[in-house]
Amino acid sequence: MQGRCLCGNIRYVLDTAPRMTFACHCRDCQRQTGSAFSYFTLMKREKFHLTGTPRSHSTIGESGRSVTRHFCGDCGSPVFSELEKAPGIVVIPVGTLEGDPGLVPSRHSWVRHKQAWLTLEGAAELYEEEMP
Ligand SMILES: [Zn+2]
Ligand SMILES: [Zn+2]
Repeated sequence: MQGRCLCGNIRYVLDTAPRMTFACHCRDCQRQTGSAFSYFTLMKREKFHLTGTPRSHSTIGESGRSVTRHFCGDCGSPVFSELEKAPGIVVIPVGTLEGDPGLVPSRHSWVRHKQAWLTLEGAAELYEEEMP
């Protein structure tokens, strides 16, 4: 699998198919994406091969731990994030993958900030705050 930012200056290749996909409804994700929630899949850092040089921005999330978001400095697309709580893992926005990867979120975190118009159906696990 592979992916890229909107302008194509940042690209990545994954060695294996991702195994866990989740949505995050926290206020920082809403602000950073300009959307209702972010939609990520997880990959071990060593199976994620990046070309190009993203810019980075770190925040302390509502969980109290740091989140570093890496994004294209030319087009602004988020490309991957790193979480203090999950060292060695990269968090990849599903919308940057090529084609339709068919990844369905199995968990939703920070559901207490979910937009009121959004109805969550299906078998996903819902967490009012941070997911385990
Ligand atoms: Zn770009
Ligand atoms: Zn979030």
